[in-house]
Order: sequence, then C-alpha cells, then structure tokens
Amino acid sequence: MAIIGAGAAGLMTAITCGEAGLKVLLLDGREKIGAKILMSGGTRCNITNRDVSERDFGSEQNRVVRDVLRSFTSEASLRFFEQWGVHVLMEEGGKYFPDTHSAKTVLDGLIQGCSKKGVQLKTNQKVSEIQFRENHFKAYALGSSILDSSSVVARFIGQSMHGPINGATTNVHMPNLFLISGKGFSYEAKTVVLCTGGLSYPTTGSDGVGYEIAKSFGHSLVLTTPALTPLLTNDSAWKALMGVSLPVKLTLSLHDQKKASFEGSFLFTHFGFSGTPVLNISRHWVREPDKNALKMMANFLPSESQEGFRQSFVLAAQKSSSKTLKNFLSEKLPERFVETFLKKNKLAENLVLNQLKREARESLIQSLFYYSLPVTGVYGYQKAEVTAGGVDLLEVDPKTLESKLQPGLFFAGEILDVDGRIGGFNFQWAWSSGVVAGRGVVKKML
Ligand SMILES: Cc1cc2nc3c(=O)[nH]c(=O)nc-3n(C[C@H](O)[C@H](O)[C@H](O)COP(=O)(O)OP(=O)(O)OC[C@H]3O[C@@H](n4cnc5c(N)ncnc54)[C@H](O)[C@@H]3O)c2cc1C
Repeated sequence: MAIIGAGAAGLMTAITCGEAGLKVLLLDGREKIGAKILMSGGTRCNITNRDVSERDFGSEQNRVVRDVLRSFTSEASLRFFEQWGVHVLMEEGGKYFPDTHSAKTVLDGLIQGCSKKGVQLKTNQKVSEIQFRENHFKAYALGSSILDSSSVVARFIGQSMHGPINGATTNVHMPNLFLISGKGFSYEAKTVVLCTGGLSYPTTGSDGVGYEIAKSFGHSLVLTTPALTPLLTNDSAWKALMGVSLPVKLTLSLHDQKKASFEGSFLFTHFGFSGTPVLNISRHWVREPDKNALKMMANFLPSESQEGFRQSFVLAAQKSSSKTLKNFLSEKLPERFVETFLKKNKLAENLVLNQLKREARESLIQSLFYYSLPVTGVYGYQKAEVTAGGVDLLEVDPKTLESKLQPGLFFAGEILDVDGRIGGFNFQWAWSSGVVAGRGVVKKML
C-alpha cells in the first residue's frame, strides 16, 4: 500500500498500517518532511485538545466528522504519543503541547514510529498522477525480469491469458493496481491513501495537487477557501497599533443575524487584525459571498458586563475629581489602544471623568462593547493555517474513509472537507482520520 503525503495525517496512517504488518510506502514531494508540524503552535505543536467534538470543526458533514473523531479520540492520541516518547502538558483552554515545548519532539516521535513499524519513506517524490489499472496482465520475459513495468496492459483487461507468448514472454495476471507517478518515478500499489493536505502554506508542500488527483477519480470538492487566516483592514489608525494585543470577543453577523462568535487574544498588525478570535472567525468571513451584509463587531471588554463597567465608571468619577478618561480606561485596556480608541470616538484624552455627560458616557460604553471593525479581505493561503472545504465527505465511506467512487483509494487529513478552530483540533482531525483510513486499508488488505 502507498500513502501520498508524509504530513501529520500521512505519518499517522503509515504507523497504523505498519503496525498491522502491511508493507507501507510513504511518499512525500519535499526533501524534508513535517514542515507544518515543526511550525505549528508557535513551534511548540498544539497536538490535541482535552475536549474535542464535531462542534469544533467546520464541515458540510458534521456526523461523519463526529464518527471519525469518536473512532480515535484525543485520549487515544495522547496514549499513542506517550508510546513514542512524547509526554504532554495541558495548557489553558485544554490545549496539549509536548513537555519539551518543541514541535520537533512530535515529529521525531512520528518518524521513530514509522521506522519501528517498517514504513519505507521516500522523499523528493512529488506525485503528479495516479491511475487505476483493473485486473491487468504484465508481460514478463521468461525466467527473467519485467519487460514492461506498467503500461502494457490496459488492452488485456477482462481477458484471461496464461503461459508463454511468442516463446519469449509470459503474461502474468495482476490484481487491481494503482500506478503512482511523478517526475522520474513510478510505483504500483494495491491501495492508496491520499494525505496531501490542502492549499495553505504552499511552501510546506501542500499546493493542491492532491485535489486534482482526487478529481481525476471523479471526486467533487466542497468549495475550498483559506481558514484560520488574518484579516485585512484599510483603517490606518488600527494598523498603526501593530503589536498591541488585548482580549476581545468578536461577533460576525450577516444582516444583523449572528453567524459566529469567538473570544481570545486579539492582535493588531501592520495589515489588519490577527490573534485567536480573528483566525477563528476568518473562515466564516471568507465563505460568505455577500460581504456587504457582514459586520464584525468587537467587544473590547469581554470579561466585564456593560452594567459593571458603568458602575465602575460612575464610582471612579465620584471618587476622583481629576481622573481622566485616558487614565481610567488604561487601567482596563492597553494605553496605545485607549489613545486610538478615544480619537476614533472623538473624545479628548484629558477629559475628566465627571465632565462626561451621560449621553456621551453611554455612547462610549456602546462603542467599547459593540465596535464595528472594518474588514477588507483576508491574508489568504500564504498565511492560512488550514484550508476549509475539500474532498466531499459524502463521497467517502464514513467508517473507513475509502472513496465510494474508486475502491482502494482512501483519504485522510486536511484534504477532506474538514477544518477545525485553533486549539489542537486540526491535528486531532489528522490523527483520527489517519487512524480510520489506516484501519480501513488494513481491513481491505488482510
Ligand atoms: C503555521 C501553522 C500552525 C499550525 N498550528 C497548529 C497547531 O498548533 N495545532 C493544530 O491542531 N493544527 C495546527 N495547524 C494545522 C495543521 O498543521 C494541519 O491541519 C495539519 O498539518 C494537516 O495535516 P495533513 O497531513 O492533512 O496535511 P499537511 O500537513 O499539509 O501535509 C501534507 C503533506 O503532503 C505532501 N504532499 C502534498 N502534495 C504532494 C504530492 N503531490 N506528492 C507527494 N507529497 C505531497 C506535502 O509535502 C506534505 O508533507 C497549523 C498550521 C500552520 C500552517
């Protein structure tokens, strides 16, 4: 059996199949494997999460996602990694990282697993085409090596020919095979697992060729878009705040109906907005065609209620007759942010709290809790941690991830129409789908 793509999903599939005693060929187009694992989680690799469910993912087929996740849970992933020397620490939000704080530990564990299970890894093997050859014959020179390694055969499909031909060759009946080829190489395999990832961070090796291969077998793709990607703005005042971060709750609405909401550390950048809630909300922004009907509202004080803030404002105004608006807000928010925020709200920094009229105070509160941030686009695949959309889950067997259109062809990882939020969910999908596809191959082959 062959696996195309030695990323998270491919490595997991390979170990699963190797463990069951299958002869595994693992091909990758890059010279060095595991680029995304190494850069993940700020080079610390957020392996998985304590609480994983289908609700943490975007997909057209949530039930399939649920079944796959239940087949190999986050607890099972932790046990698996422990076995390969990866001990973990849990951090805020249930996120698991290796206790070495290094993503390399995770990649090393997976590579060690592959080598212990006899997986044959070949790098610099960029697959450009996979063909399926049904019940064919191969011409062999009598008593010697293969005459034609791959292409003789299509015309013999369905015929039964045995014995010597022209006294010099013999045609040997071959089972169904996939012919996997690229520049300067070709391999044959009875089953193939496509683990080529999506389109995000193409420099790491995932450039969409896998989708083309899936399409060549008749598969359809659910619209692919960047996800977990920063958002752009044309507002120079916000951009000037680059480097400033603060906790924010973001809510995206369509025609004033809530579409998605995420809370976490928000970051101003020289191009716009980033940080956890921005990355999480980006898939929803990108995938809505009617951008004019979208609004992204920020709550800059997510841990406070409006009433609580109002009371603390009134109390501070009563207690001190000289406290300025800037000083009061800077106790709760970063100072540079406060300066920009007050300018945007046409309020002087040195305005003393008790000079602020009730109406102006209420308008300030409204602005702090419901501020509409202007978004003009997304950074795109170059900086998208994942791809949303992909091979349609309706076209795979949910129990094995085998193609319903081409028996013997399986999928795992990001190539499928599944994308998770920040927090270790995307790797969990890679581990779970890798194990499910691997077990599917084992069941078929043994
Ligand atoms: C910067 C960054 C940080 C991230 N951090 C986290 C995190 O902390 N936690 C988390 O859960 N997720 C994280 N992710 C997401 C996670 O890395 C991916 O979801 C996951 O790596 C997908 O695994 P995959 O094996 O499906 O695809 P990939 O990791 O993309 O692997 C695909 C492999 O296939 C190979 N390939 C592609 N096409 C071919 C071909 N034609 N022939 C041969 N080989 C081919 C590629 O070279 C690559 O090795 C992060 C992603 C990025 C970009």
